[in-house]
Amino acid sequence: MTIGKIIDGKLFAAGLRAQVAEGVAAFADAAGRKPGLAVVLVGEDPASAVYVRSKGKMTVEAGMESFEFKRPDSIGQEDLLDLIEELNEDDRVDGILVQLPLPAHINEAAVIAAIDPAKDVDGFHIANAGKLAVGEKALVPCTPLGCLMLLKDELGDLSGLEAVVIGRSNIVGKPMAQLLLQESCTVTVAHSRTKDLASVVHRADIVVAAVGRPEMVKGEWIKPGATVIDVGINRVPALEEGKTRLVGDVATAEAISHVRAITPVPGGVGPMTIAVLLRNTLVAACARRGIAAPD
Ligand code: NDP
Repeated sequence: MTIGKIIDGKLFAAGLRAQVAEGVAAFADAAGRKPGLAVVLVGEDPASAVYVRSKGKMTVEAGMESFEFKRPDSIGQEDLLDLIEELNEDDRVDGILVQLPLPAHINEAAVIAAIDPAKDVDGFHIANAGKLAVGEKALVPCTPLGCLMLLKDELGDLSGLEAVVIGRSNIVGKPMAQLLLQESCTVTVAHSRTKDLASVVHRADIVVAAVGRPEMVKGEWIKPGATVIDVGINRVPALEEGKTRLVGDVATAEAISHVRAITPVPGGVGPMTIAVLLRNTLVAACARRGIAAPD
């Protein structure tokens, strides 16, 4: 039995952050200021607070300016839109990220639409989604772009490969499919209505699972030699009572003997997301100043 490779997303992300830090230093020399990332956190969700803290820390470590705006759950939509408008106008801010999900009384789509597309480092604004769809230069959502970087690092040229993306969300599945299409893969997008998912997945040279269902993709579904990117982050009970652990959407222990390579959870796609966010902030800063951005 051959055992596939575990892709070290943590290591790759550290390399990307180091590259970004070099680009940040060059930007600061040319522009006379650091690139700035503003993160808006509404409410007290502990998981979101952890993400925001770690984003802030890594932003500063990359040599950028980090601006954090915490607002209570009770904030009204107009006040939140006013804050976004202020950040749009603030020249020190190159990237704006609104931590999702937002409280139910706030219209998430309206908030995303209010962000200046040139500062939309999450790549969720419809202008950036549209540019990605027609193959124009865009700010691309961080998680799928991170997945693509890992795939290209592992496989090189992706042209002609069969790719199956499981999940069709606007933040992962759809942009992932667009990116793979741009790489000339033959792309299938599967979702909750897909019939016989096992045989759809079995066609794929590349599987990207972005579902949110613990270990749903079974080892025997995977074509021998396929490369698997597991985006899912699911908390499940651990063996030790009262404890929990994280698992992905793929049953890794089964899949490992089928794959060429697979990302682990944790330590695969997760670390890439923040590294790409920093990269997107640098790209946005360079574009706003008319400075050539690093690749
Ligand atoms: P969504 O809930 O928005 O989308 C899930 C998708 O999975 C939907 O398109 C849904 O189909 C599909 N789906 C649900 N059940 C099935 C099924 N039984 N068979 C096939 N498809 C199914 O999730 P996200 O895209 O936001 O996130 C997906 C996962 O990735 C989550 O675990 C999330 O935590 C993780 N994630 C990880 C990130 C990271 O940094 N590593 C970043 C972002 C997300 P339908 O459209 O038909 O309902």
